[in-house]
Amino acid sequence: MGTKISDFKKLKSDVETCTKCPLSKTRTNAVPGSGNVKSNVVLIGEAPGKDEDIQGIPFVGRSGKILTQTLITNKISRDDVYITNLVKCRPPENRKPSDHEVEQCSEHLDTEIRLLKPSLVMLLGATSLKHILNKDQITKIRGKLIKGPSYSYLPTFHPAAIARNNNNRKFFSADIKKLRRFLNR
Ligand code: URA
Repeated sequence: MGTKISDFKKLKSDVETCTKCPLSKTRTNAVPGSGNVKSNVVLIGEAPGKDEDIQGIPFVGRSGKILTQTLITNKISRDDVYITNLVKCRPPENRKPSDHEVEQCSEHLDTEIRLLKPSLVMLLGATSLKHILNKDQITKIRGKLIKGPSYSYLPTFHPAAIARNNNNRKFFSADIKKLRRFLNR
């Protein structure tokens, strides 16, 4: 049986060499999850954008700066959590990933969650909420803790929604604050 570190190394190489869906043909780099593999909190976004595709690291562009800054404001480092996406490769023109792409990529996300054994899964945005919990209406559901058998879900806005409308910032900050309770429990 491998250690957690070696399991994550294998996962990273599986993601980087994955050819299961058409996004593998247009990507520059696949973008595996990053952060603390021992964290009990995982944040799940939608898909890499241009900057993530170039660097191979999730949430390093405009949305990433909002996320990282909001974490820091709440005294949380990116290394306190594990950050990943529903799909690991950039959809062309930043379109939403198709159902097929999300389905093909779910094997990688499932592995991340199986290895992490989180107590909190934070869903960043409507696409993540839809695919993981099959729910709409992020505006109504965000900030509400949803208890599952193994871990809880906390849906919140995608950081891009804060870039679009600054009124969302206070809700996003309040939800990130709720993370603290779970960290290193
Ligand atoms: N948006 C996402 O959903 N994920 C990223 O990694 C970057 C932008």
